[in-house]
Amino acid sequence: MSARHAREWPIAPTRRAFLRLACGAAGLVAAPALVGCVAGSGAGSSAAWRQGNPFSLGVASGDPAPDGFVLWTRLAPDPLAADPTTPGGMSGGAVTLGYEIASDPTLRTIVQRGTAIAEPRFAYSTHLEVTGLAPGRPYWYRFTSGDAASRIGRAVTAPAPGAKLDRLRFAFASCSHYEYGYFSAYRHLTDENPDLVLFLGDYIYEFTSRRRPTLRQHSDGITATTLPTYRNRYAQYRTDPDLQRLHAEITALTTWDDHEVQNDYADQWSETFDPPEKFLLRRAAAYQAFYEHMPLRPSRSLPNGPAMRLYERFAFGDLVEFSMIDGRQYRSREACYRRPNLGGGHLESAASCPELIDPTRSMIGLAQEQWLFDGLARSPARWNVIAQDVLMAQLRETDREGTKGFWTDNWNGYPASRARLLQHIHDSKVANPVVIGGDIHSFWNNDLKLDFDDPASPTVATELVGTSITSPGVPYELFASFLPENPHVRFFESRKRGYVMVDLARDRMTARFQTISDVADPQATLSTLRSFTIEDGRAGALV
Ligand code: FE
Ligand code: CA
Repeated sequence: MSARHAREWPIAPTRRAFLRLACGAAGLVAAPALVGCVAGSGAGSSAAWRQGNPFSLGVASGDPAPDGFVLWTRLAPDPLAADPTTPGGMSGGAVTLGYEIASDPTLRTIVQRGTAIAEPRFAYSTHLEVTGLAPGRPYWYRFTSGDAASRIGRAVTAPAPGAKLDRLRFAFASCSHYEYGYFSAYRHLTDENPDLVLFLGDYIYEFTSRRRPTLRQHSDGITATTLPTYRNRYAQYRTDPDLQRLHAEITALTTWDDHEVQNDYADQWSETFDPPEKFLLRRAAAYQAFYEHMPLRPSRSLPNGPAMRLYERFAFGDLVEFSMIDGRQYRSREACYRRPNLGGGHLESAASCPELIDPTRSMIGLAQEQWLFDGLARSPARWNVIAQDVLMAQLRETDREGTKGFWTDNWNGYPASRARLLQHIHDSKVANPVVIGGDIHSFWNNDLKLDFDDPASPTVATELVGTSITSPGVPYELFASFLPENPHVRFFESRKRGYVMVDLARDRMTARFQTISDVADPQATLSTLRSFTIEDGRAGALV
């Protein structure tokens, strides 16, 4: 359906058209796709949607707290509308939505209802910060607008602060390029029904594959660089039924990596050597589109130009604290960033590039480092998960030309920053630190050592890296050839797509590396590649 059609009003002056006039007179302007404004709150409103399902992008929940969570939706009766002035087929003023939250899956027992605003400046998305609920339990919810209702979503609150919690199941996922396969991994992840899902970045890809035809295609066939093109990218991914159901059923914690903006960018420095002031305009558009589509708290994450606060801590009773890290916004520039083609990740060594080991450089910015250090030192939780975007363990690499070095786009490009973090974890005796990540499209289980070059050095934390949902893996034979020089790597596999499912108990963490049979098969089946156990009080997985 075109945006133009969505602008037409009914020809006959229906009762609903009169309602619209009445509402307009009250100062509320309805979107043209919506006949009549929402009169009153909740399901009792009486306006009608002329065409299209305004809830075509589904619903999502995130950022759980002991008394609530964030509920998300975005009105988009025409989700991939080409006209940049009508995002999702919407135009006109803000729309008031109704919402209902119930203690049962069929919404029989409503515990809260009210209204939320979908504003045009945020593409008619809404981010409802719900409070006043009971801790440590599921709720069910839906949004309504006129005669339309969203699917019913499920969301969980966190346990009361410090409450004894025996178990938590969480999944983590990254790197879901739509063009490289079906989201079967997301479907199986949902079927496993974890309490939480953590998105660790490359949730969308800004670029479109040049190698055509791919299995599925980005609708616009271009690289996203502007607000309308980033918006449509998220909208297309969210129309995928597997991803949409995941968000409807599982509460999310979210961070990003590079492809939400541009490959291998760092703060204001683009891979393509754009002038920083120009690149920051692109970053602002990308961050805003991310905000518009994720269940994030406006009180923390409302974008402000190119700036958006994403990092945050989430505690689940006395069992675990998650530190969600922003690995891109505050980064120092890639080491030895130079033309013609070294704007992004590339191999360098201290000999080729003294900047690599400059102690003033940081992976996450000195302010976020301090925030993370303070939180870890104070955390009363039994397990402390640092959830971030990229590989942390040292990885000595050799490229096909025989050049030896470290990849500059992950923590290997920021070794002083990594050393500060691991030294802090060691010195402040952080309880059971586990680092999780993605980006490298392969599974890894690594010992994070105080000194990676000394095998006798203590292991201070455990690292688990999840493979991609769909994106092609790094070359297996090449990366396997690095392993003898990296003895702290306990496991590596890049030939499988999937995610990681973690069962956390007081005395152990069990991580299953879950893989799908075939990324090209929409009905792909699931199996467990390996599972690893980390025991309370002992860094490093049992293998
Ligand atoms: Fe990726
Ligand atoms: Ca990445």
